[in-house]
Amino acid sequence: MERIYLDNAATARLSRQALAAMLPFWEGEQGNPSSLHSYARESRKAMEAARGKIAGILGAKPQEIFFTSGGSEGNNLLLRGSIEANGKKGRHVITSAVEHPSVLGTLQDMMQRGQIELTILPVDEYGQVSVSSLKEALRPDTVLVSIMTANNEVGTLEPVDEIGTICKENGSIFHSDGVQAVGHIPVDVKESKLGLLSLSAHKFHGPRGVGAVYIQSDTAVHPLITGGEQEHHLRAGTQNVPGIVGMAEALAEAMEEYPAVHARLQSFQSKLVQAVLSNVPNSRLTGHPTERLPGTVSFLFDGVSTDELLAMLDMNGIAASAGSACTAGSHQPSHVLSAMGLLNSAHKAPLRLSMSRYTTEDEVNKVIAILPDIIARLRG
Ligand SMILES: *Cc1c(COP(=O)(O)O)cnc(C)c1O
Repeated sequence: MERIYLDNAATARLSRQALAAMLPFWEGEQGNPSSLHSYARESRKAMEAARGKIAGILGAKPQEIFFTSGGSEGNNLLLRGSIEANGKKGRHVITSAVEHPSVLGTLQDMMQRGQIELTILPVDEYGQVSVSSLKEALRPDTVLVSIMTANNEVGTLEPVDEIGTICKENGSIFHSDGVQAVGHIPVDVKESKLGLLSLSAHKFHGPRGVGAVYIQSDTAVHPLITGGEQEHHLRAGTQNVPGIVGMAEALAEAMEEYPAVHARLQSFQSKLVQAVLSNVPNSRLTGHPTERLPGTVSFLFDGVSTDELLAMLDMNGIAASAGSACTAGSHQPSHVLSAMGLLNSAHKAPLRLSMSRYTTEDEVNKVIAILPDIIARLRG
């Protein structure tokens, strides 16, 4: 059976171009970038070229980009590290109810340890944070505001440009979890007045286990992993040079292809949404109708169990997920949909279909053909 992969928001396949760029760095002798011989110089050169490439795409300076092991580490580093380093401003932190667990869980952990005071902003039915509620919540001692660029469960885009301006006026650091956005839509750290941004390679067809953070030059951040001089003492440990090279290649490729891919995914998305909403009774689209990622479509179906729906789709060769892979199996209702006020009655099954530039129209048509039948069978 031909299988259809629609779980790209959980992890996306490695691009061939990224793989090809990485291969020479897996084979033969490889210098540690911190050593002093010619092998090391070659590793260092490749790593710094990757840093420059990523910085250029984000509108940052190379010295503002630091390599990590991925999105979760990046968020932990930026949140814990910036709050600790900027205690003079205060200990009040603002975030939203729809953040990824690596942000929400980290801030809740810090709150439970008595390290911060935390305000969690509500969102509207589309999953968007209101700018006026942010303005009301800001205090002179608000050290940090953390609002994601794009939501991983429903695909909603947050008003980060406006939020950045408001944070700047208040002298608060603005962090954005950009893991779902970078490589999918243009992200410019200057335009959004970002102090801190995290990204992860495997969400844009780069390798797993590697990511980067942007730290604006004048923003102090303490390290999380100490004991080495790498990354200007910000992140100790030998850098993953092949991963870093693959990440930069994947990001450059994603942004080169962005205009065509964006148009294609938007047409797939409208087709999918229109077909599902008109062929499946008691279904709704979740997330913002227009301010959303091009490839992420999310629905809510009444009277169906998510586990059964995902199992049935899988039996038919379609890989999808309920919303977030990170909470799969926990059987907790989605904190994102709850915050959006959409889980007020039982038996609502969320379904996230996340496409990529490898998704074909044929695949979309197959899903459209099969999904209404599956839902009807599960309801019957
Ligand atoms: C996947 C994801 C993360 C975590 O990234 P990893 O590289 O898997 O640790 C963080 N935030 C968002 C929004 C994500 O989608």
